[in-house]
Amino acid sequence: MRKNPRRTGRVFPSASSSFSWPRWFAVVAAVVAVAAAATAAPDTTGDDGGVLDGVFTFKALQLYNAVTSYLEYFYDTVIAPITGGAPSSKPKPSRVSYKKFQLLRVLPSDEDDVVDLEALSEEPGVQVWMPIRLNKTADLLLPPSVARDVKRFLTQREIDFVILSSDLERSISKQNPRSPSPSQKSELKATKGHLMTWNRYHRYQEILDYLMYLSEHYPHLVELLPIGKTTEGRPLKVVKISSGQTRENVVKPAIWIDAGIHAREWISPAVALYILRQLVENKSYRALVSQVDWYILPVVNADGYEYTHTTDRLWRKSRRMPIESGRTLWGGMSYGCEGVDLNRNWDWHWGSVGASQDPCDDTFAGSHAFSEPETRAVSDFILDHRDRIQLYLTLHSYSQMWLVPWSHTKKRADDYDDMMYLARQATEAIQKVHGSQYQLGTSPSLLYATSGGSDDWAKGKAGIKYSYTIELPDKGIYGFMLPADKIVPTGKELFTGIKSIVKSIVKINSAMTNKTNNISIE
Ligand SMILES: [Zn+2]
Repeated sequence: MRKNPRRTGRVFPSASSSFSWPRWFAVVAAVVAVAAAATAAPDTTGDDGGVLDGVFTFKALQLYNAVTSYLEYFYDTVIAPITGGAPSSKPKPSRVSYKKFQLLRVLPSDEDDVVDLEALSEEPGVQVWMPIRLNKTADLLLPPSVARDVKRFLTQREIDFVILSSDLERSISKQNPRSPSPSQKSELKATKGHLMTWNRYHRYQEILDYLMYLSEHYPHLVELLPIGKTTEGRPLKVVKISSGQTRENVVKPAIWIDAGIHAREWISPAVALYILRQLVENKSYRALVSQVDWYILPVVNADGYEYTHTTDRLWRKSRRMPIESGRTLWGGMSYGCEGVDLNRNWDWHWGSVGASQDPCDDTFAGSHAFSEPETRAVSDFILDHRDRIQLYLTLHSYSQMWLVPWSHTKKRADDYDDMMYLARQATEAIQKVHGSQYQLGTSPSLLYATSGGSDDWAKGKAGIKYSYTIELPDKGIYGFMLPADKIVPTGKELFTGIKSIVKSIVKINSAMTNKTNNISIE
């Protein structure tokens, strides 16, 4: 999950329809830069000049992007206002096609394989979905231009692989059933009051409409709390589910669930909405709601989520525009890539490990901790309610894992055993539903070390003892393209796991409260 499938800037920009000397200057300068970089770029992939045959090195392409974007920015901000020329604003990107992109599962069986695969992952266009580790499977997404060469390379190096998908676009088109027609929509709205279902993945506005519906139909249970806006101005609304206080002077524990920090992980908001619906619309869970308050934010990265629906199904980051990042070519950063990885942007060992300073990388941590409105809004809210929130859950996909802090270090937290005890209860409860097994452990032990993640921050900075990242199904057959008919079974399983943890937290809380009350009486 380390590289963008393509650069978001233009690798080979299309010719402008009208003559513009600054743009010609930009193109000429960029070509010179590419030629220089292609000559000077150090060969890091071996004696034969690279893993795959290619004209340009990755670094040359980055530099090309950087130069053209910077000069274009210079033209827009300095030249165009003087000459009255039209800004060189980029046309709205058309939908990205993954036609004939192949998804491969590879198994490195010795250190040489790992080195080869890591070099391969640096090739332009190759995307790593699951990390490359010895004796563990990893998933690689290959554009058609390199697929044959990569497979030949793997065969030559005797690295085992299987093809999970020979045409990712086909998997994408099968994932989500068609949206209802306008007449069907108005019929649904008239009968149900909203368009939400749990057999398809919905657009953000439909999700917001459903939240509004819940707050209007269950006013004594549901409250919408606006906590801020995304980069592109979409509202972020936390759903508070509460039956009010039970007894005077007894503060109920609260549970926080967020989802959709990573845009392409569609199952995560869908499952959060499933849980939300059960808590509000299923009367058999009233006892659960009376014992704890729930705060649920179904889509943190709403801009990125929308972008995955409209433009690029595999987008992961936020939609922060590069010019706003304030980074310059002279600061050593490439210029012209969009988005920040919102799960590397939290103020906890920010930028120390498993996060990138390159805006073009999928794990770009942002210009500084909490540089993004989405992470600021959520963290401010959590800090305001930290005394009551006793469980922090953040939903991601895929790989079917229940991750406990820390992610930034291999050192165990002091209360690691306590966290593992409740997490084990949850995963055992999940397994009883449909037999699904979630792996349990820290991110460095199961995946890789990362920093600036929300679960570590929730524990380390906000002081929430039980803090977990949940990687939802599957284990990689569908990956991010998990079909919509898996929403309900996945939601059922996770809700069962969460209920088991919440019961334990209620018990712990009531024991603590009684103890405190006893002490105060004495
Ligand atoms: Zn994720």
